[in-house]
Amino acid sequence: APIVAIVGRPNVGKSTIFNRMAGERIAIVEDMPGVTRDRLYASAEWLNYDFRMIDTGGIEIGDAPFLAEIRGQVELALDEADLIVMVVSGREGLTEADEVVAKMLYKTDKPVVLAVNKVDNPEMRNDIYDFYALGLGDPFPVSGSHGIGLGDLLDEVVKHFPDEAAEQEDEAIRFSIIGRPNVGKSSIVNAMLGEKRVIVSDIEGTTRDAIDTRFVTPDGDEFVMVDTAGMRKRGKIYENTEKYSVMRAMKAIDDSNVILMVLDAEAGIREQDKHVAGFAHDAGRAMIIVVNKWDAIEKDDHTMSDFENLIRDEFKFLDYAPIVFVSAKTGQRLDRLPQLVKDVDDNHRKRIGSSTLNDVIMDAIAINPTPSDNGRRLRVYYATQVAVQPPTFVIFVNDVELMHFSYERFLENKIREAFDFTGTPIKLIVRARK
Ligand code: GDP
Repeated sequence: APIVAIVGRPNVGKSTIFNRMAGERIAIVEDMPGVTRDRLYASAEWLNYDFRMIDTGGIEIGDAPFLAEIRGQVELALDEADLIVMVVSGREGLTEADEVVAKMLYKTDKPVVLAVNKVDNPEMRNDIYDFYALGLGDPFPVSGSHGIGLGDLLDEVVKHFPDEAAEQEDEAIRFSIIGRPNVGKSSIVNAMLGEKRVIVSDIEGTTRDAIDTRFVTPDGDEFVMVDTAGMRKRGKIYENTEKYSVMRAMKAIDDSNVILMVLDAEAGIREQDKHVAGFAHDAGRAMIIVVNKWDAIEKDDHTMSDFENLIRDEFKFLDYAPIVFVSAKTGQRLDRLPQLVKDVDDNHRKRIGSSTLNDVIMDAIAINPTPSDNGRRLRVYYATQVAVQPPTFVIFVNDVELMHFSYERFLENKIREAFDFTGTPIKLIVRARK
């Protein structure tokens, strides 16, 4: 969902507007030391659009000088948000601080919508014209405390959202099966779809040659298998050349939420497998590693764990991806794939409430003190989840330089121990707060 950030100088009413826009769906978080407000983000809805809001004013920490604080807010907004609502006050009129904020926003090519708050009665509407001077387009008069004008403001906000944002109603989980030629992708696709109790329907690609396949499992779960056209009619469209298959994989990754990365147990792991996996990881998709042709190799009681160790070794960056050993030929364990896709898709969209998250972070710090450098110790103030798919967390600290990779890794592991994020990468963003 698109992310909307609300910025503006102090006391223009950012939080009031934020709370109004969020309605009762607001995320209440516990008071943290140094955090002057208790709400940071919320999900909101307008017309058919779902979006997330960040109240950048909610992360004022300590007594940073005014300008530094505003700069911090705006930076966060510019980094995290798809659209920015700048709030000014119609009661106080245009101030120098408003101009400072506006100036910071000129640099972005993200849409900015200007809201003039505290326009509590119609006569005050005449005073909003001064704000054209900010160069941010039409000012929208609103009254956060009276709930006036917010509809028009939200209409303007959602106008800037990409069209796909409105079309989230399709419940089907989009996944694709990727891997280098001959690992058995087509065979897996055909075996999964050939299962008698699976109901399949093709979706004609509109602008491209690819055809996605929609199917429903006996449990009633709906899936779209992306870019399966060539795989179902083996060898025709889907050419078995390395370059073509990489290109195809990249496109499929782009179009999917979950990726099944197929390896060939017989042929072992090749360099190209790592390339393909790297794309999926970098794209932040949920991942499952599927080891195919398990029927074709001789096994004893540690063949599976040996192969697993080999994979963990070769694909260190995919340590979160579950591994399944299957055979497209015999059908072994293929019936597990739909449920697994569903589970990792859930994890990929998982949201953790800020108070639970901060409990986990603070517990982690208690057992493993933060690193220090030259007598300065890293201080972690607060963490909050700002996005899903993949789950993305912002951690506010005193000094970004003091955060070591290994400590970041430690915090990520603690988050993974506390919540089930199997199959999904998670992103940590470290931010400084004075
Ligand atoms: P793709 O290029 O990844 O789509 O691979 P294909 O599905 O065309 O399979 C490549 C070859 O591997 C074909 O000869 C298949 O019959 C064979 N194959 C696929 N899956 C299995 C399997 O589970 N076991 C065995 N023994 N052979 C398989």
